Amino acid sequence: MTVIAHDAPIYVAGHRGMVGSAIVRALAARGYTNVLTRTREQLDLLDQAAVHRWLADVRPAYLHIAAAKVGGIQANNTERADFLWQNLQIQNNLIHGAHEAGVQRLLFLGSSCIYPRDAAQPIREDSLLTGPLEATNEPYAIAKIAGIKLCESYNRQHGRQYACAMPTNLYGPNDNYDLATSHVLPALLRKAHEAQARGERELVVWGSGTPRREFLYVDDLAEACVHLMATGYDGPLVNVGCGEDLTIRELAEAVMRTVGFDGRIVFDASKPDGTPRKLLDVSRIQALGWRATTPLGEGLVRAYAAAPFASPAPAVPGR
Ligand code: GDP
Repeated sequence: MTVIAHDAPIYVAGHRGMVGSAIVRALAARGYTNVLTRTREQLDLLDQAAVHRWLADVRPAYLHIAAAKVGGIQANNTERADFLWQNLQIQNNLIHGAHEAGVQRLLFLGSSCIYPRDAAQPIREDSLLTGPLEATNEPYAIAKIAGIKLCESYNRQHGRQYACAMPTNLYGPNDNYDLATSHVLPALLRKAHEAQARGERELVVWGSGTPRREFLYVDDLAEACVHLMATGYDGPLVNVGCGEDLTIRELAEAVMRTVGFDGRIVFDASKPDGTPRKLLDVSRIQALGWRATTPLGEGLVRAYAAAPFASPAPAVPGR
């Protein structure tokens, strides 16, 4: 088992995002002292020559690839070309650049939307490419699948040890709270908070409220990433989730309890539902010695406390 030394250079791509910033926190907490980051102004990940040059100069011992163009159902569905080409470009630059620079190990992060829309639940890693994708996020999913195949191909052709982890829906500090582009959980936190602050009685929830989603607190994911790195994991694709899901209606109710808003839920049927369910099978990562530790109720309180739009009202216990 290869272990990355605590003073080895570790590059976190995407460190300003929710996932990358959580990985930086987790690395510091585990005593890794040489964590490298670059802002977009310092290094444009869409610029192949610049990325290759920087990786060749620095030659990190390990790369966490958390840089990506990400967004919720509406952004994915409308900015389709941007999601496909930017993600292909970023991951090609980083993965091929890492190979060219002689970087032996990295972790490429994707998302559970890579799996077929109608995959058997809970979704096992080997269901990849066994059926059609969900239409609303197909461009993003295609890019991520290409990234997984790129890693697998470098491993097979060149003996690299490029690992891929597919997290479920994430939330936590540094989330995107822009209602046009965010995912459901931060959107509902903000909408419930604002409805409460304005004395409104309704919380508008997109779609029917019946789709089921699984939510993982981002610091739990970061722990998983550092665990995979520290234990030298270089095996096949691995899912990262908490193993439990709930309906969007139930999520809205949990968010309302967190915020202390007791209005009414109104469903906006003009918005898409997306995939009916995407619960990950997490037996592979659990067998590797990691499991999620933050329950949804606790994660919601922590995410709300860290949200940029407000200092929270106290949660109402037992509701
Ligand atoms: P998905 O998991 O890729 O489908 O992305 P989202 O997190 O954006 O959406 C998950 C589900 O939540 C979908 O069924 C949405 O229609 C639903 N949803 C309900 N209210 C909202 C909202 O205010 N924003 C978003 N993004 N989704 C919402």
